[in-house]
Amino acid sequence: MRVRVAINGYGTIGKRVADAVAKQPDMELVGVAKTRPSFEAERAVEKGFPLYLGGEGKASDFDAAGLKIAGTVAEMLGKADVVVDATPDKVGTENRKLYDAAHIRAIFQGGEKAEVAEVSFNALANYAAAKGKRRVRVVSCNTTGISRAVSVLLPRWGVDRWDVTLVRRAADPSESKKGPINGILPTFQLPSHHGPDVRTIFPGLPISTTAVVVPTTLMHVHANRVRLHSAPKDVGEILAAFRATPRFRLFSPWEHVDGTPQVMEFARGRGLGSGDLFENALWQDGVGLDGADAFFFQAIHQESITVPENIDAIRAMFDLAPDGAESIAMTDRALGLRA
Ligand code: NAD
Repeated sequence: MRVRVAINGYGTIGKRVADAVAKQPDMELVGVAKTRPSFEAERAVEKGFPLYLGGEGKASDFDAAGLKIAGTVAEMLGKADVVVDATPDKVGTENRKLYDAAHIRAIFQGGEKAEVAEVSFNALANYAAAKGKRRVRVVSCNTTGISRAVSVLLPRWGVDRWDVTLVRRAADPSESKKGPINGILPTFQLPSHHGPDVRTIFPGLPISTTAVVVPTTLMHVHANRVRLHSAPKDVGEILAAFRATPRFRLFSPWEHVDGTPQVMEFARGRGLGSGDLFENALWQDGVGLDGADAFFFQAIHQESITVPENIDAIRAMFDLAPDGAESIAMTDRALGLRA
C-alpha cells in the first residue's frame, strides 16, 4: 500500500517535505497547496506536483501568472490519506476544522502548541507512540535536535540534569524582513520554552534551557552540559554512541569544519535536498567529559532537520514499518543519507 500524502503550506518546510515524500517507495504525493503564485509554485509545477489553491488564495492570481491549478485544498484533501500541514505558526491549528471535515489524518509542525495533536513526535525518541494516531505534531527544529541527543545519552547513562543554551539563527536565509542584522538578543523567558517542549517527548526530563538570537541565517548551535547519572569510561564512549546513531554527523578535526559556515558548505557540496543537513552536526573536538558531566556543541539546520521526522511520522501513523529503526533506515536511504 502507498499512503497518499497532501502538503498544505508550501514554504520552507512544506517544499522540503514534498520532495522527501516524492522519494519514498511507500508514499505518493497527491499535491501541494499554496496561497499565492511564486517561483516556488512554479517549481512545484515543473516537478509535476499537482498545485492546489490553499487558504485565502485566489485562482485568478495563479491564472495571471500562467500557473495551472488542479483544484481547491478541499479537493486535494479528498484525494489523500494524510495531510502534512506546513503553514505558518498557529495557522495549522486553525486548519484543523478543514481536516476534521475531510475526515483525514494530519501532521502538524512545531509552531503549533502540543495540544493540536494526540502526540508530539520524534522518530528516535518515541516512534511507537504515533502508531495508528490521527493527529501528530512533529516538534520544532530545536526540540528535534535536542530530542535526538537525549535519545543517545539517556538510555545509556541516565540524565540527572540537562542544561542547554540555544544560540538561535535570526531568520531563515530567504526571510529578508527579519533580524537582528547586528546585535545579540537574549530571550527574556527564563527558562526558555524549549525545555518544556522537549518534555512533550520525554516527560519528567530534568532539562533547563536558555536562548539568545544572533545575526546568522545558517543554523542554530546548542551548547549542552549534561550531568549524567553514571559516568562514561571516557569521552570515546560518548563519541561512539553518537557515531552509532542515525541522523548524527560527527566532524573529525582533519575535516577542518570550524563552525556552521563549513557545516553548510559540506551540506551544499553533498547535494541532498536543497543543500540540506538532515542530521545533528557535532564536532569530535566539541564533545567533552568531566567526571559525570558531558559537554557537547551541536548545530541544527533549521530548514531541514524535521523533514525526515515528518516522513517517519507518516509511516508510524499508518504502521508501514515494524519499528522506528526500520522506518528511519527507509527514510534515510530514500533521502540519500549513508547508513
Ligand atoms: P513558511 O512561511 O516558510 O511557509 C509557510 C507557507 O504556508 C507559505 O508558503 C505561506 O504562503 C503558506 N500559507 C500561509 N497560510 C496558508 C494557508 N492557510 N493554507 C495554505 N498555505 C498557507 O513557514 P515554515 O518556516 O515552513 O514553517 C512552517 C511550520 O514549520 C511552522 O509551524 C514552523 O514553526 C515550523 N518549523 C519551521 C522551521 C524553520 O526554521 N523554518 C523549522 C522547524 C519547524
